[in-house]
Parts: sequence; structure tokens; C-alpha cells
Amino acid sequence: MGDLGMKLFCSRGELGPADSKSLRLLEFEVPPGTGALRVDFDFAPIFSEDAEQNRASMERAVREYLGERAGCPEAFAEMLAREDIARYLARIRNLLNWLVYDPAGRCRGRWDFRADGSWQTSTIGPQASSPGFTDGPVLPGRWSIVLEAHLICTPRCRYALEVQRCESDDLPELAPNRPRPRRLTGSSAASPRPEARQGWLRGEMHAHSMHSDGAYLVSELAARAAAAGLDFVALTDHNTTSGCAEAARCEEPVFIRAEELTTFCGHFCLYGTGRTVEWHRAGERIRIERIADEVRAEGVLFSLAHPFQIGDPFCTGCRWPGQDPPADRFDLVEIWSGCWQARGVEIRRAIDLWDRLWDRGLRPVGVAGRDWHDERQADGPGRRFARTVVAAKERSERALLEGLRRGAVYLSTGPHLDLRILAEAGPVDLDRGAEPLRLPAGGEAAVEAALEGEIPEGALFRLVRDGHVAREVPASATLHMPVRGPGRYRAEVWSADGEPLLLSNHLLVEEA
Ligand SMILES: [Zn+2]
Ligand SMILES: [Zn+2]
Repeated sequence: MGDLGMKLFCSRGELGPADSKSLRLLEFEVPPGTGALRVDFDFAPIFSEDAEQNRASMERAVREYLGERAGCPEAFAEMLAREDIARYLARIRNLLNWLVYDPAGRCRGRWDFRADGSWQTSTIGPQASSPGFTDGPVLPGRWSIVLEAHLICTPRCRYALEVQRCESDDLPELAPNRPRPRRLTGSSAASPRPEARQGWLRGEMHAHSMHSDGAYLVSELAARAAAAGLDFVALTDHNTTSGCAEAARCEEPVFIRAEELTTFCGHFCLYGTGRTVEWHRAGERIRIERIADEVRAEGVLFSLAHPFQIGDPFCTGCRWPGQDPPADRFDLVEIWSGCWQARGVEIRRAIDLWDRLWDRGLRPVGVAGRDWHDERQADGPGRRFARTVVAAKERSERALLEGLRRGAVYLSTGPHLDLRILAEAGPVDLDRGAEPLRLPAGGEAAVEAALEGEIPEGALFRLVRDGHVAREVPASATLHMPVRGPGRYRAEVWSADGEPLLLSNHLLVEEA
């Protein structure tokens, strides 16, 4: 055996609350002949057990989340009693991550905390790397690790990071970090696969695997998605695309290569990227506008994720960055995050934001995302997640991105939608997307919409014009309304007790 575990570098330090939202650059030399790197990382304490302080910071986050409804004592108490929030009242976690860069400046992946305890040791090697890291040669030269301190909620948090090298002939012993496939446990929801509609694919736009903080291997995620009747899944692991290689080996469903850019101020999903995009380089943050411009030039769709999710310390950094957000760069906006039962407040706010952006002349496409991490985001009683339904010419990432880009998209918990504008020159269907229909002054047209599939009794079918309800009929009926003048039209279905069941994107009418 060679010099397995020869120490190359060690960094120990202490962080405090003032270090929250800061980056630390650590550099080290890797000598020639190195087969793989092994990084051991540890920090303590993990949790803040200061009940009083936890409560105060969670109450602040919940107040901000509720917005106008924060003054309503019932709404406030209901939120604090929510299972996932109540857990945080007892224990808030320090949130630290690190990324590693090779001498060519390539990001080789990101370390994430995993609840299964397999988190301390990471391997980066040519053929076998821990989840979150990309396989490839371990080039000699100057490597760097950037420590991201997202949140330090304890007075002090000590960390230790140690890098060891292994020689090439030691490599076979260096694959223990690749997780062993686990058998599926529990039922992954008995949602019957809805009959596929010609040219429309249903999928999930926001899913994590073990390559970041999700509970599933990519193959498990694929199996669960297929069982839930999904045609596609976007793999949006936090700040890494290392899961894409595994996704490429899955036959079903279609995977969209993606990444969730998890910054200190906002989360953004990038769709159609197989390379890991970073939001900081050499310990310096990069402006989000610059990142958006760069990736969009490569054909990537740039999306704002869960804009009104509860922020720090619950979901650290994940809220819409209020000040000067790069709204004109959003190709997509996640307007339906998670399920309505738990997150109705933020879904309503996100739909309002979406309408405001359209009022400003911007045209982001609305999508849904359950932010799939584990069984808590599986379909189940009292948990209805919307699918993003996309018009795609074929079952491929390319066709899906193309449909998403043009807005040929609706979000649905079940029913199929047929939405079109009938004009003299012929009908314009939603599968054409938001490309406007030019209507001559005095010209006549009508919007027509119909639903197919199971719809709960008492549900309402609405036509929304420029953000306002223009027509409402029982969901069993066909919607028909004359179009007078320019405007944007979308269809919505709401249950009798006020839960959205379907939201479409827009059909546009402009004056010729
Ligand atoms: Zn997020
Ligand atoms: Zn996410």
C-alpha cells in the first residue's frame, strides 16, 4: 500500500454569528502522482439549543413570511405549529458548505450536510468520488477550497478541514463514499399515471438527490418520479451538477440537467446545464446579473426559485432578494412551490409577483416545484403537488427546454387543459406559448378553454385577463369569452374551498 492518507493540508478555525454569509478561501498544493484527494470536514456544535433565541429568530422569519397576514394571531400560531417549523424552534442548525476547485479553475463539486451521518469524509478521484463531486484526474498544482458560512447561529462554531492525498495504486480502496443503492422504502404515492396527452409532458422542476442534501440516489429519484407518473425531472442539486452523470444512465423519466444556485441572497434554478456554475470565485461573490447573462448566453434557462419561502434561519438565504433583483433576467419563476396546504401564503405572493413582472412588460414563464428532498415531498393525503406540464415535440431535454422557454406550459394537480384563442386566421393554442396573436383593430376573437380529467365537485374554472378574473364558470363547463383588444389571458381552476388545482401560462393578444 502506498502512502494512503498522506496529509497535505489542514485548516482549523472558529466562526461566530458575524461570519454568517461570508466566504473563506483555503489554498493548498497537490503534488504530482496524486491519485485522489480525501477531505475530512467536521464542525461543532451543529445545532443551537438556545430555545429563547431560536424562538425569537423563527418568529421573525415567520412574521416576514406571512407579510400582511402576520398581524393575524391565528395565522401566526398555525405557522409556528407547523411540523417542520416547530422542529426549528428546538434546534436551529449552523449551515456550512464547501466547494473545491482544481488548478484549472474547474469546480469539482460541493460538500453538503447529510442527515444520514455519511457526511464527514469526501473523496475526489478520477473514477470514484463522493456524491456532490465530479470524477476526473487529480491534477497537480494549486487547489482551493472555499468555505461558505451561510449561517452561524451559535456564539462559536469550530471547524476542522483536512486534505489527504492518495497515490494512484490506492484508488480501489477509495470508493467507499459512493452510497450503496438502497431499496425503495414506503410507497411513493399511488397517483395513477394520467393518460399521456399527445405532445404534453408532466414533470417536476425542482428535485434534490444525495449529490446535495436530498435523501435519494439519482436512480431512486428516477424510480419514484416514474411511480408518480412523471415524464421528466429536473435535477436541481445545490451548487453542483455532479449528479448529471448518474441521471444520464436513467432511462425513465427524462432528466433535465440543472442546478440550484444557492446563494446568500436568493436561490436560482438553472435549467439545461451540465457544468457546475458558481456564484463565487476565489472567495469573491459574483453578481447574479453577470451569472444570469453568462448562462443565458449558453442557452440555459434562468429561474427564480421559491421567492417567498421562509428565510433565515429556516431556509437560509432562500428568499427573493428584495433589493434590485435581476427580474429582467428571469426566464422562469417558480410560482407554485411545494403544496398549497402548507405553503399557500407564499404561492399567493409568488403569483402576485409574477403578475407584477408581466405588468412591467417582462414575460417570465410560471413553473411549479415541490423542492423534492425526501418522503415529505411525496404525494399523499392532504399533500397535492402540482406538475409542470410542458408542450414538447419529443421526450428529450432539448424539447422540454424549448417548450419551457416559449411558455407552452401549465401547472396542474391533475386535469388536462386545452386553452386557445379562436381568431379569423385560425386557432392559437397554448402549445405555441406566449408568441402574441396580432389582432387588427376591430377584429374578432374568442378565448376557449376546456378541462379533461377528474375535477372535484364545486371547482371553478376562471379566465384571468391581465391578472384579474374576467370570467368564472363551473369547472365542468367549457369556458368561452370574446376577446376585445390586447391583453394576456390564462386559465385557472380553483377548488370550492379555495385551493388552486391548475394554473396556465399566458396567451397574448396584441394589436396588429
Ligand atoms: Zn432553494
Ligand atoms: Zn431546492
